[in-house]
Amino acid sequence: MNMNVQMARGFRPARRIEAIGVSEILRITALAQQRKKAGRDVIILGAGEPDFDTPANIKEAAVRAIADGKTKYTALDGTAELKAAIREKFRRDNGLDFGLDQITVAAGAKQVLYNAMMATIDEGDEVIIPTPFWVTYADIVKIAGGTPVLVPCREENGFRLTAEDLECAITPRTRWLMLNSPSNPSGAAYAAEHYHPLIEVLLRHPQVWLMIDDMYEHIVYDDFAFVTPAALEPQLAGRTLTVNGVSKAYAMTGWRIGYAGGPAPLIAAMAIVQSQSTSCPSSISQAAAVEALAGPQAIVGERCQSFKARRDLVVEALNAIEGISCRVPEGAFYTFASCGGLIGKTTPDGVILDSDHAFTDYLLRSVDVAVVPGSAFGLGPYFRISYATSTGELQEACRRITAAVARLS
Ligand code: PLP
Repeated sequence: MNMNVQMARGFRPARRIEAIGVSEILRITALAQQRKKAGRDVIILGAGEPDFDTPANIKEAAVRAIADGKTKYTALDGTAELKAAIREKFRRDNGLDFGLDQITVAAGAKQVLYNAMMATIDEGDEVIIPTPFWVTYADIVKIAGGTPVLVPCREENGFRLTAEDLECAITPRTRWLMLNSPSNPSGAAYAAEHYHPLIEVLLRHPQVWLMIDDMYEHIVYDDFAFVTPAALEPQLAGRTLTVNGVSKAYAMTGWRIGYAGGPAPLIAAMAIVQSQSTSCPSSISQAAAVEALAGPQAIVGERCQSFKARRDLVVEALNAIEGISCRVPEGAFYTFASCGGLIGKTTPDGVILDSDHAFTDYLLRSVDVAVVPGSAFGLGPYFRISYATSTGELQEACRRITAAVARLS
């Protein structure tokens, strides 16, 4: 018998892994890649990363770090230089004043979240997550032994959590509320007026901490006034973790640097988790992140303008298709359109579209366009398009989606 098979038969995954599904985004991307390999002209609109390159000044800072021998372990949760740059960034962009012991750096915002949940969640603790949501939130909560409490946010409310729904979801076991603005996948963002009623609820429940994911802070459109809750309510700042990173704003997904500001005891507990997982983030990436945060910022706004033009293109094209409707997102680089008007229709090969899954499968099968069903983010019947790709590809993708829908009966 083949050794690999023997080993596979003896393999028993830990129970904490069994609770975690394979990401639908990965499944669809793998299917799309298979078709590409087979020679088909597939357009993949699934990736959650900018198509732009990392700016040259940032790359040069990394090269300098290598030449200067900054190639050793660094302080556990971030170099003094990077923490100082993050402190300045929080002051400059958010009006938040953190001490250096209130700042943490990890290998991506994903690791920041992981550290935070591992440092605070005990078996059975609950974490409120509004949907549609970035699926990672729930999976990290489960890995940490907690229970994600998913709260649907309707399109009529701009895909935002309402104070009433938050109040209903809170129990004595609630440890955290996780919010994300602008949101992956909906692109919806919370202005101050949307945060205030939620803050009022949180102030009545002192056991609930707030994790706010500001990852898409710099990708907002139409003069949207970005704000972060800790800056709105000092009383809440004492139990808020404000999470951010360089991945999206500076096209640095591969460098793996994320950071957060929050109360010192929480930050210290997170450092303990990190000390026994990755020791510290990459020294070279940290040097690059200093340049990203402290160097010239003009390119961030320029790229945002390009994203806006692409958003407008996609939203307009989708809204011109009968059966699809697309809310104009305030930020990020995703549209989250309803395909509710297509449910019940029949494809040319006789398949009845009974869900957003069936619709997105049909798009891939019939016109080689890969998009992600909304139910993969906890809310159907919708589909997410990532428009962080070239205008030419987006135009062609929209043309194909239009043609595929026209063939439904
Ligand atoms: N937060 C949100 C909302 C995201 O969409 C992503 C990545 O897709 C992240 C955090 C993770 O970012 P990082 O690359 O810093 O781990």
